Amino acid sequence: MSGPELTGGGRRVAVDHSLCGGTGHCQDIVPEVFRLDKVERRAKLRDDADLAEAASDRLARAEASCPWFAITFEREGER
Ligand code: SF4
Repeated sequence: MSGPELTGGGRRVAVDHSLCGGTGHCQDIVPEVFRLDKVERRAKLRDDADLAEAASDRLARAEASCPWFAITFEREGER
């Protein structure tokens, strides 16, 4: 797995760039965490993203909605 990863608030989010197809669904669902790089056509994680504040249900929905299964979202105790 290669790509950006972020932790905070007992949560971890990662995007696998070897899988990401650049659809942008994740940015549509959680724009405060995901940012689609239109040049690279890959999802990035925003520098100012605060995982402790981000809505857990939307992060889980972004993971489930990714057509390429590129997103990993874990909460403490799930690893
Ligand atoms: S939803 Fe998945 S494939 Fe689409 S940009 Fe986000 S990580 Fe990449």
